[in-house]
Amino acid sequence: MSSDAPQPQSGDQSAGNSRLLVLSGPSGSGKTTIVRKLLQDSPVSLRVCVSATTRPPRTGENNGDDYHFLSAEEFEQKRKAGEFLETAEVFSSGYWYGTLKSEIARAEEQGAWAFLEIDVEGALNVMQEYPEAVTIFISASSDDEYETRLRGRGTESEDVIQKRLATARRELALADRYKYQVVNDELDRAVEEIKHILRTEEAD
Ligand code: ADP
Ligand code: 5GP
Repeated sequence: MSSDAPQPQSGDQSAGNSRLLVLSGPSGSGKTTIVRKLLQDSPVSLRVCVSATTRPPRTGENNGDDYHFLSAEEFEQKRKAGEFLETAEVFSSGYWYGTLKSEIARAEEQGAWAFLEIDVEGALNVMQEYPEAVTIFISASSDDEYETRLRGRGTESEDVIQKRLATARRELALADRYKYQVVNDELDRAVEEIKHILRTEEAD
Protein backbone atom coordinates (compact mmCIF):
# COMPACT_ATOMS: atom_id res chain seq x y z
CA MET A 1 0.00 0.00 0.00
CA SER A 2 1.19 3.52 -0.62
CA SER A 3 -0.20 6.98 -0.90
CA ASP A 4 1.78 9.45 -2.93
CA ALA A 5 -0.35 12.56 -3.00
CA PRO A 6 1.29 15.87 -2.21
CA GLN A 7 0.08 17.60 0.92
CA PRO A 8 -1.96 20.67 -0.06
CA GLN A 9 0.08 23.78 0.72
CA SER A 10 -1.36 26.21 3.18
CA GLY A 11 -3.30 28.82 1.22
CA ASP A 12 -3.64 26.42 -1.72
CA GLN A 13 -7.37 26.03 -2.22
CA SER A 14 -7.21 23.76 -5.23
CA ALA A 15 -7.46 20.43 -3.38
CA GLY A 16 -10.26 21.68 -1.15
CA ASN A 17 -12.26 23.07 -4.04
CA SER A 18 -11.95 20.16 -6.38
CA ARG A 19 -14.96 17.91 -6.45
CA LEU A 20 -14.02 14.32 -5.97
CA LEU A 21 -16.46 11.43 -5.98
CA VAL A 22 -15.20 8.09 -4.71
CA LEU A 23 -17.31 5.00 -5.06
CA SER A 24 -16.36 1.63 -3.60
CA GLY A 25 -17.99 -1.53 -2.41
CA PRO A 26 -17.41 -5.26 -2.33
CA SER A 27 -17.20 -7.23 -5.51
CA GLY A 28 -20.74 -8.10 -6.54
CA SER A 29 -22.32 -5.10 -4.82
CA GLY A 30 -23.23 -3.73 -8.24
CA LYS A 31 -20.71 -0.90 -8.73
CA THR A 32 -20.18 -1.43 -12.45
CA THR A 33 -23.92 -1.64 -13.09
CA ILE A 34 -24.57 1.49 -11.03
CA VAL A 35 -21.77 3.51 -12.64
CA ARG A 36 -23.01 2.65 -16.13
CA LYS A 37 -26.50 3.85 -15.28
CA LEU A 38 -25.34 6.93 -13.41
CA LEU A 39 -23.17 8.10 -16.29
CA GLN A 40 -26.14 7.94 -18.65
CA ASP A 41 -28.02 10.49 -16.60
CA SER A 42 -25.89 12.23 -14.00
CA PRO A 43 -27.18 15.43 -12.41
CA VAL A 44 -23.58 16.76 -12.19
CA SER A 45 -20.72 16.76 -14.66
CA LEU A 46 -18.65 13.65 -13.93
CA ARG A 47 -15.34 12.65 -15.45
CA VAL A 48 -14.33 9.07 -14.84
CA CYS A 49 -10.68 8.84 -13.86
CA VAL A 50 -9.15 5.95 -15.78
CA SER A 51 -6.96 3.97 -13.38
CA ALA A 52 -3.67 2.32 -14.16
CA THR A 53 -3.29 -1.40 -13.58
CA THR A 54 -0.77 -4.16 -14.07
CA ARG A 55 -3.47 -6.75 -14.72
CA PRO A 56 -3.82 -7.83 -18.34
CA PRO A 57 -6.74 -6.49 -20.36
CA ARG A 58 -9.85 -8.66 -20.56
CA THR A 59 -11.50 -9.32 -23.90
CA GLY A 60 -13.16 -6.13 -25.08
CA GLU A 61 -11.17 -3.81 -22.80
CA ASN A 62 -9.23 -0.97 -24.42
CA ASN A 63 -6.07 0.69 -23.21
CA GLY A 64 -6.83 4.25 -22.12
CA ASP A 65 -10.59 3.66 -21.96
CA ASP A 66 -11.03 0.95 -19.36
CA TYR A 67 -7.59 1.23 -17.77
CA HIS A 68 -4.11 2.38 -18.58
CA PHE A 69 -2.61 -1.09 -18.85
CA LEU A 70 1.00 -1.01 -17.66
CA SER A 71 3.76 -3.53 -17.12
CA ALA A 72 4.88 -3.99 -13.52
CA GLU A 73 8.03 -2.01 -14.40
CA GLU A 74 6.09 0.89 -15.91
CA PHE A 75 3.78 0.98 -12.91
CA GLU A 76 6.71 1.05 -10.50
CA GLN A 77 8.40 3.85 -12.46
CA LYS A 78 5.28 5.98 -12.23
CA ARG A 79 4.92 5.19 -8.54
CA LYS A 80 8.48 6.25 -7.87
CA ALA A 81 7.97 9.44 -9.90
CA GLY A 82 5.03 10.34 -7.60
CA GLU A 83 2.42 10.12 -10.37
CA PHE A 84 -0.15 8.24 -8.26
CA LEU A 85 -2.57 9.60 -5.71
CA GLU A 86 -2.93 6.07 -4.31
CA THR A 87 -2.01 2.53 -5.24
CA ALA A 88 -3.23 -0.84 -3.99
CA GLU A 89 -2.82 -4.50 -4.75
CA VAL A 90 -6.44 -5.51 -5.05
CA PHE A 91 -7.94 -8.89 -4.02
CA SER A 92 -4.46 -10.28 -3.22
CA SER A 93 -4.33 -10.88 -6.96
CA GLY A 94 -0.72 -9.86 -7.43
CA TYR A 95 -1.94 -7.06 -9.69
CA TRP A 96 -1.57 -3.40 -8.81
CA TYR A 97 -4.06 -0.64 -9.41
CA GLY A 98 -3.58 3.09 -8.99
CA THR A 99 -5.22 6.47 -9.44
CA LEU A 100 -3.14 8.81 -11.59
CA LYS A 101 -2.97 12.40 -10.40
CA SER A 102 -3.05 13.48 -14.04
CA GLU A 103 -6.57 12.02 -14.36
CA ILE A 104 -7.80 14.14 -11.47
CA ALA A 105 -6.10 17.23 -12.88
CA ARG A 106 -7.88 16.67 -16.19
CA ALA A 107 -11.28 16.57 -14.49
CA GLU A 108 -10.44 19.78 -12.63
CA GLU A 109 -9.44 21.47 -15.90
CA GLN A 110 -12.79 20.49 -17.36
CA GLY A 111 -14.68 21.78 -14.34
CA ALA A 112 -16.05 18.29 -13.78
CA TRP A 113 -16.15 16.09 -10.73
CA ALA A 114 -13.31 13.56 -10.73
CA PHE A 115 -14.99 10.18 -10.36
CA LEU A 116 -12.98 7.31 -8.87
CA GLU A 117 -14.28 3.75 -8.68
CA ILE A 118 -11.60 2.18 -6.50
CA ASP A 119 -11.21 -0.41 -3.77
CA VAL A 120 -11.61 0.33 -0.07
CA GLU A 121 -7.89 0.43 0.71
CA GLY A 122 -7.38 3.02 -2.04
CA ALA A 123 -10.43 4.99 -0.93
CA LEU A 124 -9.18 5.25 2.65
CA ASN A 125 -5.93 6.72 1.33
CA VAL A 126 -7.79 9.20 -0.87
CA MET A 127 -9.87 10.28 2.15
CA GLN A 128 -6.70 11.25 3.99
CA GLU A 129 -5.54 13.46 1.12
CA TYR A 130 -8.97 14.80 0.20
CA PRO A 131 -11.08 14.90 3.38
CA GLU A 132 -13.74 16.80 1.46
CA ALA A 133 -14.19 13.98 -1.06
CA VAL A 134 -17.72 12.67 -1.42
CA THR A 135 -17.31 9.01 -0.61
CA ILE A 136 -20.01 6.42 -1.20
CA PHE A 137 -19.92 2.80 -0.11
CA ILE A 138 -22.19 0.48 -2.07
CA SER A 139 -23.40 -2.69 -0.40
CA ALA A 140 -25.77 -5.44 -1.45
CA SER A 141 -28.98 -6.12 0.44
CA SER A 142 -27.58 -9.04 2.44
CA ASP A 143 -24.29 -10.82 3.09
CA ASP A 144 -25.34 -13.82 0.97
CA GLU A 145 -26.20 -11.60 -1.97
CA TYR A 146 -22.53 -10.99 -2.94
CA GLU A 147 -21.98 -14.67 -3.54
CA THR A 148 -25.26 -14.99 -5.42
CA ARG A 149 -24.43 -12.04 -7.66
CA LEU A 150 -20.82 -13.05 -8.25
CA ARG A 151 -21.86 -16.57 -9.21
CA GLY A 152 -24.72 -15.15 -11.29
CA ARG A 153 -22.31 -12.90 -13.18
CA GLY A 154 -20.23 -15.97 -14.02
CA THR A 155 -17.01 -14.13 -14.82
CA GLU A 156 -14.68 -15.48 -12.11
CA SER A 157 -13.20 -18.85 -11.22
CA GLU A 158 -14.02 -20.46 -7.86
CA ASP A 159 -10.63 -19.46 -6.44
CA VAL A 160 -11.16 -15.82 -7.42
CA ILE A 161 -14.72 -15.84 -6.04
CA GLN A 162 -13.44 -17.07 -2.67
CA LYS A 163 -10.76 -14.34 -2.56
CA ARG A 164 -13.32 -11.69 -3.43
CA LEU A 165 -15.75 -12.89 -0.76
CA ALA A 166 -12.99 -12.81 1.86
CA THR A 167 -12.12 -9.27 0.77
CA ALA A 168 -15.82 -8.34 0.88
CA ARG A 169 -16.04 -9.29 4.55
CA ARG A 170 -13.06 -7.05 5.38
CA GLU A 171 -14.43 -4.19 3.28
CA LEU A 172 -17.89 -4.30 4.85
CA ALA A 173 -16.29 -3.71 8.24
CA LEU A 174 -14.98 -0.36 6.91
CA ALA A 175 -18.20 0.92 5.36
CA ASP A 176 -18.77 3.45 8.13
CA ARG A 177 -15.61 5.31 7.14
CA TYR A 178 -17.48 6.56 4.05
CA LYS A 179 -19.58 9.69 4.08
CA TYR A 180 -22.54 7.85 2.54
CA GLN A 181 -23.62 4.23 2.44
CA VAL A 182 -26.03 3.14 -0.28
CA VAL A 183 -27.68 -0.27 -0.32
CA ASN A 184 -28.06 -1.57 -3.86
CA ASP A 185 -31.18 -3.56 -3.11
CA GLU A 186 -33.06 -2.30 -6.15
CA LEU A 187 -30.91 -0.82 -8.91
CA ASP A 188 -33.04 2.16 -9.94
CA ARG A 189 -33.68 3.17 -6.35
CA ALA A 190 -29.96 3.00 -5.49
CA VAL A 191 -29.04 5.11 -8.53
CA GLU A 192 -31.67 7.70 -7.59
CA GLU A 193 -30.24 7.85 -4.07
CA ILE A 194 -26.77 8.53 -5.47
CA LYS A 195 -28.14 11.22 -7.77
CA HIS A 196 -29.80 12.85 -4.78
CA ILE A 197 -26.47 12.82 -2.91
CA LEU A 198 -24.74 14.45 -5.87
CA ARG A 199 -27.38 17.16 -6.25
CA THR A 200 -27.14 17.94 -2.54
CA GLU A 201 -23.34 18.03 -2.55
CA GLU A 202 -23.21 20.17 -5.70
CA ALA A 203 -25.52 22.69 -4.06
CA ASP A 204 -23.29 22.94 -0.95
P1 ADP B 1 -19.37 -5.07 -9.04
O1 ADP B 1 -18.92 -4.15 -10.16
O2 ADP B 1 -19.61 -4.34 -7.76
O3 ADP B 1 -18.49 -6.26 -8.86
P2 ADP B 1 -21.56 -5.73 -10.87
O4 ADP B 1 -22.09 -4.40 -11.27
O5 ADP B 1 -20.72 -6.48 -11.86
O6 ADP B 1 -20.79 -5.65 -9.44
O7 ADP B 1 -22.82 -6.60 -10.42
C1 ADP B 1 -22.67 -7.97 -10.06
C2 ADP B 1 -23.89 -8.76 -10.59
O8 ADP B 1 -25.04 -8.33 -9.85
C3 ADP B 1 -24.16 -8.48 -12.06
O9 ADP B 1 -24.57 -9.68 -12.67
C4 ADP B 1 -25.33 -7.46 -12.02
O10 ADP B 1 -26.16 -7.56 -13.13
C5 ADP B 1 -26.06 -7.85 -10.73
N1 ADP B 1 -26.75 -6.73 -10.05
C6 ADP B 1 -26.35 -5.43 -9.97
N2 ADP B 1 -27.23 -4.70 -9.24
C7 ADP B 1 -28.19 -5.56 -8.84
C8 ADP B 1 -29.40 -5.41 -8.05
N3 ADP B 1 -29.76 -4.24 -7.52
N4 ADP B 1 -30.14 -6.51 -7.85
C9 ADP B 1 -29.78 -7.72 -8.37
N5 ADP B 1 -28.66 -7.93 -9.13
C10 ADP B 1 -27.88 -6.86 -9.36
P1 5GP C 1 -11.18 -5.17 -12.07
O1 5GP C 1 -9.86 -5.89 -12.16
O2 5GP C 1 -12.34 -6.13 -11.89
O3 5GP C 1 -11.39 -4.19 -13.18
O4 5GP C 1 -11.14 -4.29 -10.74
C1 5GP C 1 -10.90 -4.88 -9.54
C2 5GP C 1 -11.00 -3.86 -8.42
O5 5GP C 1 -10.01 -2.85 -8.55
C3 5GP C 1 -12.34 -3.11 -8.30
O6 5GP C 1 -12.81 -3.33 -6.99
C4 5GP C 1 -11.98 -1.66 -8.46
O7 5GP C 1 -12.75 -0.86 -7.59
C5 5GP C 1 -10.52 -1.64 -8.06
N1 5GP C 1 -9.78 -0.55 -8.69
C6 5GP C 1 -9.85 -0.13 -9.97
N2 5GP C 1 -9.04 0.91 -10.17
C7 5GP C 1 -8.44 1.17 -8.98
C8 5GP C 1 -7.49 2.17 -8.53
O8 5GP C 1 -7.03 3.03 -9.27
N3 5GP C 1 -7.12 2.10 -7.24
C9 5GP C 1 -7.60 1.17 -6.37
N4 5GP C 1 -7.18 1.23 -5.11
N5 5GP C 1 -8.48 0.24 -6.75
C10 5GP C 1 -8.90 0.24 -8.03
